Amino acid sequence: MMINRRAFNPERAADIRMSFLLSCPNCGPRDVYEFRFGGEFQRRPEPTASQDAWVDYLYLRANEAGPQREWWYHRMGCKAWFLAVRDTRTNTVLQTFRPSTADRIT
Ligand SMILES: [Zn+2]
Repeated sequence: MMINRRAFNPERAADIRMSFLLSCPNCGPRDVYEFRFGGEFQRRPEPTASQDAWVDYLYLRANEAGPQREWWYHRMGCKAWFLAVRDTRTNTVLQTFRPSTADRIT
């Protein structure tokens, strides 16, 4: 008898969160499939910053295992870019906010 290792296992599937809610600052909670992921939030270096600082900004990512600030775009809603703090281990969104308030939020 041949074993299909890719067969659906409902016991394992219960632990896998494929989708989650993201709360747009303008529209409220929506399914994540309404949004586009825009990458990790990083502060843009000053124009006079060193070449190494620009290389880090353009090419390096922290890829945190835990809470991480990220850009999101509400492509099927208000078309706004905003920031979210998402725990990458659990896909739990801890906070969302407009970029204008980013400096006030830790
Ligand atoms: Zn929206």
